[in-house]
Amino acid sequence: MTNSCIFCRIVEGSLPATFVYQDESVVAFEDRNPQAPTHILVVPRLHVATLADATASHEPLLGRILFAAARIARERGLASGYRAVINNGEWGGQTVFHVHLHLMGGRQFHWPPG
Ligand code: 5GP
Ligand code: ZN
Repeated sequence: MTNSCIFCRIVEGSLPATFVYQDESVVAFEDRNPQAPTHILVVPRLHVATLADATASHEPLLGRILFAAARIARERGLASGYRAVINNGEWGGQTVFHVHLHLMGGRQFHWPPG
């Protein structure tokens, strides 16, 4: 955990966020700049900067992030579908360097993304 990481600060409670899900390894909260009617960030409590930094020891945690996203989507009634995205590194469009999954729904998405 690092003080300069905004998602670590949200996880520890020193920065406010609208939480929608929490368990022992993962939290989820509303994105502050939503790009869809539902835009939730699913974030591991453990600081891992990028997906590329994940090691074999993080494999169960990565599964938990995906499973939490599916659970939240089900609870939100996103039965028509949704987008689950992890931006990785500069060219992947990552701006916050603490791994997070964007769960986006409530509108039609297109492929390829921009
Ligand atoms: P990235 O570009 O790294 O994949 O996504 C970072 C996301 O975090 C963006 O969608 C941005 O709106 C969101 N974000 C950045 N800072 C904060 C914050 O302090 N609170 C919340 N709730 N979301 C944030
Ligand atoms: Zn962090």
